[in-house]
Amino acid sequence: MAHLRRRFAAFTAALVMSLTSGTVASPAFAHPTEPDKTATARGYGGAVSTVDPEASAAALRVLRKGGNAVDAAVAAAATLGVTEPYSAGIGGGGYFMFYDAETGEVSSIDGRETAPEAMPHDAFIDPETGEPYPFTPELVTSGVSVGVPGTPATWERALDRWGTVSLREALKPAIKVASRGFEVDETFRQQTLDNKIRFEAFTSTTSLFLPDGDAPAVGSTFKNHDLAKTYRLLAKHGTDAFYDGPLAEEIAATVQDPPKTDTTKLPVPVGHMTTADLAEYEALDQDPAHVEYRGLDVYGMAPSSSGGTTVGEALNILDTVNLSEMTVPGALHHYLEASALAFADRGKYVGDPAFVDVPTDALTDPLFGKERACHIDPLQAAEKPVTPGDVSEYDGVCPAAAAAPADEKDTENISTTNLTVADRWGNVVEYTLTIEQTGGSGIVVPGRGFLLNNELTDFSTVYDPADPNRIEPGKRPRSSMSPTIILEDGEPFLALGSPGGSTIITTVLQTILNRVDLGMDIPEAIAAPRASQRNTASVTAEPKFIDAYESQLKPYGHELSPAGDSFTSAAEIGAATAIEFMSDGSMVAAAEPVRRGGGSALVLKPSR
Ligand code: GLU
Repeated sequence: MAHLRRRFAAFTAALVMSLTSGTVASPAFAHPTEPDKTATARGYGGAVSTVDPEASAAALRVLRKGGNAVDAAVAAAATLGVTEPYSAGIGGGGYFMFYDAETGEVSSIDGRETAPEAMPHDAFIDPETGEPYPFTPELVTSGVSVGVPGTPATWERALDRWGTVSLREALKPAIKVASRGFEVDETFRQQTLDNKIRFEAFTSTTSLFLPDGDAPAVGSTFKNHDLAKTYRLLAKHGTDAFYDGPLAEEIAATVQDPPKTDTTKLPVPVGHMTTADLAEYEALDQDPAHVEYRGLDVYGMAPSSSGGTTVGEALNILDTVNLSEMTVPGALHHYLEASALAFADRGKYVGDPAFVDVPTDALTDPLFGKERACHIDPLQAAEKPVTPGDVSEYDGVCPAAAAAPADEKDTENISTTNLTVADRWGNVVEYTLTIEQTGGSGIVVPGRGFLLNNELTDFSTVYDPADPNRIEPGKRPRSSMSPTIILEDGEPFLALGSPGGSTIITTVLQTILNRVDLGMDIPEAIAAPRASQRNTASVTAEPKFIDAYESQLKPYGHELSPAGDSFTSAAEIGAATAIEFMSDGSMVAAAEPVRRGGGSALVLKPSR
């Protein structure tokens, strides 16, 4: 695959500039603290891409001071907890992937939230009606959907395993941003407004995020002294101060008895978390899922996330055809069909491997992918939902045996954040972290400055013993987070990831195809309009995708429907970040030019 890099070796800094000019979001007015925001940067000695200029700047400072990619990733993640508090923070969880330049190995940490030990199978059934709680607003704004947070433990574990600085050091930039404040942008204000009814349900959340009864104004400075204090506590005492002691007691009490306002009409079902659940939480070392695609080694997050197996299976399916020789609609048709097939298997087989026998090897087996590829008609979209394959019996020969379909309802929300960091030694981090939907459960732990997740809504709502994603005490709900690191001949070629609930999987997949098969460079691959087929009757797509491809995909039988829902105002899919490693030793850091107001890509040295 060396040709891939050669093909793009001519990719010049000038080209990058021309690609991004006009799309780089520049602030309408200067703010004393706001770092520059550019969507693409090419250079040497280290690179970072996040959705936020403060977070990218924090990571870059750590790299400049001699920290490695892990140190910088934790600094960036902690800063995102300040500037993107509705997407990520210490009240949530995530998945951390690391390429170690010294050993050439890719490793990962599963920092997913867990269900409390006292969570019953029928936790999502309203005892008053005997029916499942309506998903919105009851379940999403509740104590019952709060999982034991994994993010503090993930940071500590990553620093212990691979970092060179202490947690105290890594938290410094975030503490500074929380104390001195950051500039409120359109996205922050809009996300606050989107959550107004939920935030108004809690005294703690109202006083933090709706200080005068309104979302902070665009251009104003938002400070979070409570979070600065909480970070200082962790800096001083380590994460024991989170999982044990007064803060753990407050978290458990908040989940069991959320601080509701007198005026709210939201029911807010209470949760089951105890201090013992917090004390027992562990971020898990996990072997990544691996597939080969066009000779590249693709490493993704193994279950409890479905990201690695689903992206991997779709790639295995697509490895049986040559997308680059197809017309663009033909290639897109194959992308959509492969994704639907992989989603059928995800629904049938993937859950927390501590509770479910997940056939990760079969799902990522090229033979299984080959057999699943038999179900793609090159000219006609299959009727959806397609049935899953049979992992107990496959030989790569058509036709594949079908298994009974899973009864699936996609309730994953579209929030979360993703970051990519590389350092001068060649180490790479890809990290996706979340509090589930934008604004999480809506509940701020009083006086502590952070929101609790509502990640347990990622479990299936109704308990079915045959469902791998059924609720179990102590279990991790299935995720879609797909931090991905791709090696070429053992060296980093591309690292990427995205937020977006179950569309994370398709965003990562589509971006890989854009880059590897469809002749785009990485900034173009990220900027390109997106569509997401998750084994449903119609394909969710961004307006620009619909404009460009609707008429060309119609003859195949694909129906496109616009992305976005009644809750969020944005008709966008994902907010990716990536770094590509070029053959001349440079790195191209790429963030979104437009989605979510544009991300921030930085490099340590623009020239050698
Ligand atoms: N809960 C989702 C997951 O774990 C992430 C939420 C999101 O991206 O919005 O896959």
